[in-house]
Amino acid sequence: MTDTFDNRYRSAWCGEVRAEQVDTQLRVAGWVHRRRDHGGLIFIDLRDREGLLQLVFHPEDATDAHAAAGSLRAEDVVSATGRVVRREEGTVNPNLPTGEVELAVSDFDLLADADTPPFQIDEDDPVSEELRLRYRYLDLRKPAMSEALVLRARVVSAIRRWFDDAGFLEVETPTLTRSTPEGARDYLVPSRIAPGSWYALPQSPQIFKQLLMIGGLERYYQIARCYRDESARADRLPEFTQLDVEMSFVEEEDVIGVVDPLLREVLAVGGVEVPEAIDRITYDDSMLRYGTDRPDRRVPIEIADLGEVFAASEFKVFSGALAAGGVVRGFSVSGEFPRSRFDALTERAQRFGAKGLVWGVVEPDGWRSPVAKFLSEDEIAGLIEATGAAEGDAILVVADEAPTAARVLGDLRLEVGEPAPGHDFVWVVDFPMFGWDAELGRWDALHHPFTAPSGDLDADPGTWRSRGYDIVWNGAEIGGGSIRSSTPEVQSKVFTALGLSDEEARERFGFLLDALRYGAPPHGGIAFGIDRIVALLAGRDSIRDVIAFPKLASGFDPLTGAPAPVDEAQLRELGVQLRPGSQSR
Ligand code: ASP
Repeated sequence: MTDTFDNRYRSAWCGEVRAEQVDTQLRVAGWVHRRRDHGGLIFIDLRDREGLLQLVFHPEDATDAHAAAGSLRAEDVVSATGRVVRREEGTVNPNLPTGEVELAVSDFDLLADADTPPFQIDEDDPVSEELRLRYRYLDLRKPAMSEALVLRARVVSAIRRWFDDAGFLEVETPTLTRSTPEGARDYLVPSRIAPGSWYALPQSPQIFKQLLMIGGLERYYQIARCYRDESARADRLPEFTQLDVEMSFVEEEDVIGVVDPLLREVLAVGGVEVPEAIDRITYDDSMLRYGTDRPDRRVPIEIADLGEVFAASEFKVFSGALAAGGVVRGFSVSGEFPRSRFDALTERAQRFGAKGLVWGVVEPDGWRSPVAKFLSEDEIAGLIEATGAAEGDAILVVADEAPTAARVLGDLRLEVGEPAPGHDFVWVVDFPMFGWDAELGRWDALHHPFTAPSGDLDADPGTWRSRGYDIVWNGAEIGGGSIRSSTPEVQSKVFTALGLSDEEARERFGFLLDALRYGAPPHGGIAFGIDRIVALLAGRDSIRDVIAFPKLASGFDPLTGAPAPVDEAQLRELGVQLRPGSQSR
């Protein structure tokens, strides 16, 4: 029960009135959800954050109230006084927690008149997201929306409780700062005091949390807002909330040892049980078996490496790929696979970058496939064994460069497989430090440049591993972090490997390199996407459904109209001049 702060508007929450309160006098307040006129009686479902309560207006018992109630319309705001009565038999509503009772109203105040809303609150008609966001304050009145925000608030409060108890300090870090390279574009804020210079909004508090460790704070956390100017993607928003964590004197195991019980406690808020010790998988293993570093292991299909089976194959597609340093991989799956489905999967594989898709079905006497005639009996037997295929199963095979084969098979695996019920949590560990960015023609950090590398740092950076780790829930990465470079020498080596000259590194990160010179403890941490975690807990597809005032995927906010042009005078003050053709007021 939530305190109502008993006052002139309400003494009870609508959604909390129960049969035990029959015959008591109450005052409730909220919005008119629905009105029905029935044989002289007027019924109103009154809604507050806690739920609905049926109000009944009798023409004889409360003549004035009854007369006035006749003109109430949806979303009017009222405060009503009355007596709790048991509903007549046959009119009890078992779907409503308050369904056994109603409030016989003796008196009410109309507190605000509502215009007809642009969409109905009491119905789940499809409404465009743009309209929902333009009138977000109405959208939030929908019970499903307030439930999501209630859940979010409870998750955040469980997080704070857990960290407080574990001796972590919540520390705020700046939002007007310098660029933090998490790999996305920065949002920039022009400076009035130094025209031509710009703040960047943080992509994460990464460097600050490391400085807090160097500052001796030992254990830090923050519910932090982060900003990344990325192109529109369904599950990415320009600003998002992160649970940010950093600890001193720790190694990988220590961070993981903190996160496992934290997640257990926090996800229990949404009724999800997290295993005591979450499984681990290496990056390489995950890429091979699931084709991704975000494996959803609920899908009961594993990709097999078929290099050995086809090592001496006469089939050019396979031998050619292997000879070029590529791979042959595949998996088996049961189900109905008519020709048209294979064609569609082939098209899909090509869209994901594969040259083609080899497919077939296991039959009692072998393998029915357009390429069957190119393969020896031994190869077919080996293929069936390696993929664990049973009679009637389909087998899909891709021969390509390893990253392409992984990407394509990882996608097809999810396309044809059904996730088993329940939840899957897994740590992905032992990442490569860098991936080759063909566009930039240089190495790029898989996590970020402050992640500590491991391996032989005098060898080619392509061979370095990182001390990073990601946590994946049902195929979604919900958190990631690392042990950090804690000496200026190692940090500088990473900058060099990333193609930064000493001058560039000094110019951008000199303050961090300096700080590392003054005695940095070994440290590491992690960050979690709170929006994603709450969306998964609430069973929502879109993270926008668990954010009070989100922007559209395009970055626009239909509610406030942001981003919006500003006055010429403001620009002048900032020393900013727009290119001809750009808009201003
Ligand atoms: N700063 C990282 C991120 O935002 C997380 C971390 O390494 O702690 O993804």
